[in-house]
Amino acid sequence: MSHLTSSEPNLRTTPFDTLLIANRGEIACRIMRTARLMGLKTVAVYSDADANARHVREADEAIRIGPAAARESYLNIEAVIDAAKRTGSGAIHPGYGFLSENGAFVKALEEAGITFIGPPASAIAAMGDKSAAKARMANADVPLVPGYHGDNQDDDLLRAEADNIGYPVMLKASAGGGGKGMRVVEKSEAFQAALEGCRRESKAAFGDDRMLIEKYLVQPRHVEVQVFCDRHGHGVYLFERDCSVQRRHQKVLEEAPAPGMTPELRAAIGNAAVRAAQEIGYVGAGTVEFLLDASPGQDGSFYFMEMNTRLQVEHPVTEMITGQDLVEWQLRVAMGESLPCTQDELTITGHSFEARLYAEDPDQDFLPATGQLTRFALDLAGTNLQADQVRLDSGVESGDTVSMHYDPMLAKLIVHGSDRDAALATLNRALAALDIQGVVTNRAFLQRLATHPAFKNVELDTRFIERHEATLF
Ligand code: ADP
Repeated sequence: MSHLTSSEPNLRTTPFDTLLIANRGEIACRIMRTARLMGLKTVAVYSDADANARHVREADEAIRIGPAAARESYLNIEAVIDAAKRTGSGAIHPGYGFLSENGAFVKALEEAGITFIGPPASAIAAMGDKSAAKARMANADVPLVPGYHGDNQDDDLLRAEADNIGYPVMLKASAGGGGKGMRVVEKSEAFQAALEGCRRESKAAFGDDRMLIEKYLVQPRHVEVQVFCDRHGHGVYLFERDCSVQRRHQKVLEEAPAPGMTPELRAAIGNAAVRAAQEIGYVGAGTVEFLLDASPGQDGSFYFMEMNTRLQVEHPVTEMITGQDLVEWQLRVAMGESLPCTQDELTITGHSFEARLYAEDPDQDFLPATGQLTRFALDLAGTNLQADQVRLDSGVESGDTVSMHYDPMLAKLIVHGSDRDAALATLNRALAALDIQGVVTNRAFLQRLATHPAFKNVELDTRFIERHEATLF
């Protein structure tokens, strides 16, 4: 089924032949790969810390945008736009993180006549505030976690709402993000103190202390749906990913499709995600995150959590099972084309995993590691792995230096297999085939996860790592 709406088509697009990538590391390299295949000229931007980085070496042209501190370089809107103007870049791909969900950046690009590879500023704003987003989602019949997201912030009213929802509840900052301003409250007597603590934290982090309350799900799975919309009213879902394996709310190991989904549940969650996107006039690649209740006896109820208005780190697992190139889709949609496929034309083949390889030391509380990577390679010789089963999306090569300035993710190892067991076996062989020297990584931790009997057994929920600490560390 193809989703068509009667929304006014916005056909205004400016053609572009040069693409600036306002990012670094593996995602900048991954975007350039597709841009080149499509015949676009690529422009990298870099900070002083990245003057010799892989993304700079691989671009057709590279522009310095500032010192190492991200605030003065990769987050510097003026410097990025100036680089685009100097290089005749008609479009900017923001990758993920940095400026990718910054409404002011998108507005500035609109004013400068540069195409943003992403949604309109209005769609980013609609999802930026958790309370406002929930109100919009309720409007579109997207299921929400039972809770309260109203304007009235009176202490007694909030507590009455929490009592009514039933404990445990989760207090969340409306303006929140990145796991800040969130607290689980176990009982009514603890509510007031938690409220005050959360408000303080939220005020300090976001300059805003509005709160919302949700029923706290004790054993949820994190299941998210990849959606895509064009400017002609079409929207599709490219199925779901399970990202339940998280450490401190950060994803570590992801897979697609989510195990154990019935066709009915898959269609229901997919269609809810497309409704969410169309409710806010979405264009491009987006991810709608849901909590799926995984507690015993649950029927697979799912609840909207948030929408990420960008390409996700874990998009490759979706590419592996659908055979589609999501960056190509993004660029085509930005050029004003219709979606390359209808919903009926999209199918799932096999199973895929992604493991995030970080420069960090699992034995020292995951302290970020730095240094020179004297060797960094995936050595498939001597394994019986085929090149089309394994993909390494990397921002580094042998000889590169890992600095302390940015996110410590070095690369993503992505595998494909005919089913979940086959893909998991491939993941383990591929992890072993990584040859990394010079910098400490979390590889051994990833191997312990990927060989864990409970993981093989699909005993998934967002507290998987916490629950298995004894056997993982
Ligand atoms: P942020 O925007 O700060 O990342 P989210 O609302 O996306 O916050 O929640 C982050 C994580 O917290 C989720 O991935 C999930 O693991 C957990 N979480 C959020 N809401 C609930 C809830 N109602 N019940 C149980 N866990 C939750």
